[in-house]
Amino acid sequence: MNWISNYVRPTINSLFSRREVPENLWTKCDECGTMLFHRELHDAQNVCTNCNHHMAITPRERFTAMFDGGIFTEVPVASPLADPLHFRDQKKYPDRMKAAQKKTAETDAMLVAEGEIFRTPIIAAAQDFSFMGGSMGMYVGNAIVAAATRAVELGRPLVLFSAAGGARMQEGILSLMQMPRTTVAVEMLREANLPYIVVLTHPTTGGVTASYAMLGDVQIAEPNALIGFAGARVIEQTIGEKLPEGFQRSEYLLEHGMLDRVTHRKDLKEELVTIIRMMMHLPPPIAGDLPAPAETPAEAPATPAQSAPKPKAEAKPKAAPKGKKK
Ligand SMILES: [Zn+2]
Repeated sequence: MNWISNYVRPTINSLFSRREVPENLWTKCDECGTMLFHRELHDAQNVCTNCNHHMAITPRERFTAMFDGGIFTEVPVASPLADPLHFRDQKKYPDRMKAAQKKTAETDAMLVAEGEIFRTPIIAAAQDFSFMGGSMGMYVGNAIVAAATRAVELGRPLVLFSAAGGARMQEGILSLMQMPRTTVAVEMLREANLPYIVVLTHPTTGGVTASYAMLGDVQIAEPNALIGFAGARVIEQTIGEKLPEGFQRSEYLLEHGMLDRVTHRKDLKEELVTIIRMMMHLPPPIAGDLPAPAETPAEAPATPAQSAPKPKAEAKPKAAPKGKKK
């Protein structure tokens, strides 16, 4: 017995776990079946380099890729009452929460951050589909209120990335109450004359589609994202008709006037900043990196006298284009 549990079982386990390592380095594209190397996939922001299939991306990864230099500050979100209904299905709700928190290393299904994109300050909120299906509960409601409040406070636009299966059933009516609540938060931005831009990602359905995800001044979607209120099967059964191909997908919705844009993930940052600056009556963004203006005056006194002529020679050509632009 001892020999089996102490030697045989660990050996078998280690053989299996060794096989799992290379699997983690490669991800199979659900659409075209191509094996994608993890680093390549990360660089492409989880978009298949073969067929452009947009895979899920966590809010943290998205913000790191989107904000200038990957720098952003999290906006604090008030924590709501835990498990107000003492909900239990196969598992207790607090246990499900703990499991999701452990899996994602996040508090709940939405992350709010402030930072700059192409040097334009914004507030961004992103929903995490890997956290209990991105479901909208009280925390998500609090997050949107926090994001809108912070945006009004700083006079910044709000960009929201939605991804959700709908309301969180474990919070019952309290999660449904987030629909009017978040609508009021969006109204706050409108009253402050600040842009509210929604980027719908795969999938955005249910109560989320029925509230804040469809209230943007500009509605953008990632390619081939499923966007809808009720599922296609339910609709088909209700109306007794076969639905057209591509129904509830980004491109179909764009064609039928439900969306303004369908944008590839790699182009999103540029498109967002262009739209934001246009809406806020700001000059177009500066995409390239200009030399830092503080560089020359700070360096000159710091360097010893011998090397002083060198930075001066460098400074002249740097200063010239700046003057021309003005
Ligand atoms: Zn693919």
